[in-house]
Amino acid sequence: MGMAIAIDGPAGAGKSTIAKLVAKKKQWIYVDTGAMYRAFALYYLRKGVDPDNEAQIAAQADGADIRISYKDGAQVVTLNGEDVTGLLRTEEVGNAASKVSRVGEVRRKLVELQRKLAEDADVVMDGRDIGTAVLPNAQVKIYLTADAHVRALRRYRELAEKKLEADKATAGEKKETDKAATGEIDEAALAKIEADIIERDRQDMTRAISPLTQAKDAVYLDSSALTIDEGVEKILSVCGEKTA
Ligand code: C5P
Repeated sequence: MGMAIAIDGPAGAGKSTIAKLVAKKKQWIYVDTGAMYRAFALYYLRKGVDPDNEAQIAAQADGADIRISYKDGAQVVTLNGEDVTGLLRTEEVGNAASKVSRVGEVRRKLVELQRKLAEDADVVMDGRDIGTAVLPNAQVKIYLTADAHVRALRRYRELAEKKLEADKATAGEKKETDKAATGEIDEAALAKIEADIIERDRQDMTRAISPLTQAKDAVYLDSSALTIDEGVEKILSVCGEKTA
């Protein structure tokens, strides 16, 4: 096994943004394990399998061939030969991922893939069970979290920004009342995102197999009041201490 930094925590804590930057600084590979569960979720959504139907999820797991490669340093996810990287970051796929990830057959396949990636390279790997189950011997473990309201607000801004870009691309069709375009907060939409985040936390923390929990030897980091750069610096300083 190479060197590994394991970063676990709930949805929207800033794991992927921060992990990517840490990997860049260290010149290690960034492995986004959430994207693998999302690719599995996409596979079932496309097949019309209900993400709550655990028996069907288990029975059809063998039909999904998920592979990871790197293009210009960025992770590319292929599902049965198709590059699905750009289709994974929607709320629908994220919520379905949280459901299909409860199933042992799904987890076993992906954990095997994750361990293989960590065998071949030095990695910064983020997810829910990296420090507790996938790489229990990682040199550095971080439990990165943030207040649920702060996480919802970050997700809301990210979605609003995406929407704004999409609207720009189709200029003219944009509605006058679009709140994303005015910077005004749509409280109902924000409340829905926060409710989804709380439900996702509940599912991820209470499932039977590899639930989200802080590893005993993980450093707890609350990013609620931190900028992205401060989060990155903090993790690099933990690395310095642990690997000195
Ligand atoms: O991190 P992200 O939001 O992309 O993860 C989507 C879902 O995949 C999570 O809500 C979680 O249920 C699942 N997941 C997991 N174990 C991991 C990474 C993600 O169970 N290591």
